Amino acid sequence: MTGNAKDLPALEALLNTPNIMSLIRQFSRSETVTALRNSLAELRSDIVAGKQTVLPEFDSSEFSQAIAEQIKADRTPSLRTVINATGVIIHTNLGRSPMASHAIQAMQDVAIAPSNLEFDLATGKRGSRHSHIERLICHLTGAQAAVVVNNCAAAVLLSLVATSAGKSVVASRGELIEIGGSYRLPDVIVQSGAVLREVGTTNKTRLSDYEAAIDETTAVLLKSHTSNFRIVGFTSSPKRQDLAKLADEKEVMLIEDLGSGVLIDLSPFGLGDEPVVADIISSGVDLVMFSGDKLLGGPQAGIIAGKRHLIAQLKSHPLMRAVRIDKVSLAGLEATLRLYLPPHDPLKEIPVLAMLSAPLAEIAARGANLARELKGAGISNVSVEEAIAQVGAGALPERGLPSVAVSCEIDGISADQLTAHLRAAKTPVIGRIERGRVLLDMRTIRDSDVPAIVAAFQAVIAG
Ligand SMILES: *Cc1c(COP(=O)(O)O)cnc(C)c1O
Repeated sequence: MTGNAKDLPALEALLNTPNIMSLIRQFSRSETVTALRNSLAELRSDIVAGKQTVLPEFDSSEFSQAIAEQIKADRTPSLRTVINATGVIIHTNLGRSPMASHAIQAMQDVAIAPSNLEFDLATGKRGSRHSHIERLICHLTGAQAAVVVNNCAAAVLLSLVATSAGKSVVASRGELIEIGGSYRLPDVIVQSGAVLREVGTTNKTRLSDYEAAIDETTAVLLKSHTSNFRIVGFTSSPKRQDLAKLADEKEVMLIEDLGSGVLIDLSPFGLGDEPVVADIISSGVDLVMFSGDKLLGGPQAGIIAGKRHLIAQLKSHPLMRAVRIDKVSLAGLEATLRLYLPPHDPLKEIPVLAMLSAPLAEIAARGANLARELKGAGISNVSVEEAIAQVGAGALPERGLPSVAVSCEIDGISADQLTAHLRAAKTPVIGRIERGRVLLDMRTIRDSDVPAIVAAFQAVIAG
């Protein structure tokens, strides 16, 4: 029977068919009703869209089986853990940085029990949620003051609203960035109520360009880290120190949207272009904003560090309440920041930094182990080869990070099909395809991931 909207049965009628009645007994009435309603709505919209829709036999066991599958799918949690075999260490679509066990413990503690989130234990009076972390951030960055919000986008928005609403913001044409997920700096400036004054050109902006644009409406010179692209060749931009000096002379502020917050020098790992927050503060920037879940390696958060009087303005701004950080993230961020202090070693204890700094030999050994396990499980076409991993989240190391990948082929299954099977595994495995083969990059795979990867392949060959 080809589709016609008037041939669709009423929901009530379906609920009285024996097969559907047995679903209600097996699951529940409300879940069955929801699944039926969704199924009817889908059929109706297919018919309306003119798709050639063949209506099911509504009293058949095939139809009730499909509804049962739908109910089971609805019962499965949607947000699940996956294995990041992409080689992109900070993968925004896969949840950015995995967190340190210390941080997870701290998050669990404040999630389960009451805490002194906004309670001063010394006086017994109301306290501030900002107090737990401010001195720590100041210690690690050299800033006078700091405050934390929900994410870096909120940090930039709050900073601009509080400093520049109704005034103008001067920014270089070479730094009007877009990052994934519809964050475009010019649009954020507009949303803050400020007017953008673009200066310079895509490849060259001089100090004199900024100087010429400053007038009585100017509140801020905005610098942003061009983290996800690179302009090479005939380029120039003024030094941060010179911009800070100019801002000082003209009595305007210098603010920097940094994106990835790096607290220690990562140049030994090819990340020499990622500015360290302490260097930015010491060059005289008034406020700098950066993310908690990029290279810093903590939970989603936006950190604003800088001059005391400006941070005080942000803390008391009406928008603060709308963008404030929650207690679980705050606990995770505090615990992550403490790992940058003795006796801890951030390069070992913070997972993103450990992945970034892992010696190639260690990664190769992990690859050899996975290859051996896969062969042991009956996957014959497995090899270990050199690969290039990426930091992700905008940070561009010079030529990618040297890595090792395990490549796998299964007879009769294309690379596209294999990645689809691996995504459908109990613990989904997300790899990449290169030259028609599936690669599992060992820089982002942990030893503890190996059994689940092997199980995913076993499920593929079992059909
Ligand atoms: C990532 C990034 C942001 C946004 O940070 P979120 O924490 O995702 O909100 C802003 N600016 C720059 C330069 C970035 O790289």
